[in-house]
Amino acid sequence: MTTRRDFLSRSAMTAAGFGAVTVGQALPAQVAESVKQMRPPKKPVIVTRDTGDASIDEAYKMLLDGADTLDACNHVCVARENDPNDHSVGYGGLPNEDGVVELDACCMQGPTRMAGSVGALQNIRHACLVSRIVMERTGHVMLVGRGAEHFAVMEGLKREDMLSDDARKMWLLWKEDRNSHNFWGPPLSSPQWKQPAPPPTLNHSAIPRHPGPEWADVIRTRSQQLMGMAGDLGIAPHKRAFAVEQVLWPTTGTIHISVVNTQGEMSGATTTSGQAWKIPGRVGDSPIIGAGCYTDQDVGSAGATGSGEENIKVAGAHTIVDCMRQGMSPKEAGLEALRRIVRNYNGDMNKIRYLDMIYYIVRKDGAYAGVSLWNTTASGSPKIFVVHDGEKRIEKCAWLLDGKTTN
Ligand code: ASP
Repeated sequence: MTTRRDFLSRSAMTAAGFGAVTVGQALPAQVAESVKQMRPPKKPVIVTRDTGDASIDEAYKMLLDGADTLDACNHVCVARENDPNDHSVGYGGLPNEDGVVELDACCMQGPTRMAGSVGALQNIRHACLVSRIVMERTGHVMLVGRGAEHFAVMEGLKREDMLSDDARKMWLLWKEDRNSHNFWGPPLSSPQWKQPAPPPTLNHSAIPRHPGPEWADVIRTRSQQLMGMAGDLGIAPHKRAFAVEQVLWPTTGTIHISVVNTQGEMSGATTTSGQAWKIPGRVGDSPIIGAGCYTDQDVGSAGATGSGEENIKVAGAHTIVDCMRQGMSPKEAGLEALRRIVRNYNGDMNKIRYLDMIYYIVRKDGAYAGVSLWNTTASGSPKIFVVHDGEKRIEKCAWLLDGKTTN
């Protein structure tokens, strides 16, 4: 029981506590002098994934017209969430292993230093907007699962099925295949993990992400079988190869966008349907503040697409912003986060070759980078990102390791 004496002495201690450290002393001192001196860019800068639509140009126009930086981020995220042909985000995203689409998203608004996040959200299209409403209308930062869905409905968002017909058929293909990649068993990071060996019979194993030439026959046979099954399931001929690829090597996707305007105001947002065929309830890096997205109004903003579990373990976006705080360039900071991922595997390329990661980074002065773990996709094309600083263009990512990934 609290007595009046306890209460009075605690109040006195609290008051003394307030006086002990001045606000100035309590603020972080570790921003490098070079970063403190930086001026905002002359033009806004957007760094993101190639969306193939008009939303990045529209977001840029919003920034020129003085819109809030997080509104500009959300504009791009909403467009992706609406696109049924983007199978990594929102409506049309590939589902979990039960055939249910679960969405993850988060956002950070530099000037207000606020953050919001939503994980494993079902039946609501715009996860990015839910994360923003969590940020603006609750005392929490993160809501997940059924609570998040209920919250979104109570805030006026429509409940709707997120599983598109195309995504449903791809899930059926994955399910019917029986031999496909799933997330059960010891992970890559476990000493118990075993490298998949070429199977004794041609159609009896998950194919590794980077199969050597000894897998050629297996891949040919499995692909032919799956193409036939895709036809039986009614998948349109021009969509079959993509569906087969998602079964054999589920790709990563996601959209992250970081922006800075001419006032030096920054925001970042990330939205995704996460890893295809994931275990229900799995939450990736995308809604984790500090992993999938991090914005610090003193320094810069960063976010990620790729192997979510690896990114969580290095708190990728926060690591990058913190490295920039100490004076690193966006590119150096991104490479440093990637090195920490490689370090987590002691440089074991037999494991690292299964991983993928791209970081999108902008600093408060408008300096930017796209940084990738690998330099090319499986087909040998370079890893890319989009920048808009008055002119929208695709640029090659800087990279840490020479080699290919599947996406
Ligand atoms: N990072 C996302 C996740 O792990 C996936 C992706 O970027 O495609 O959920």
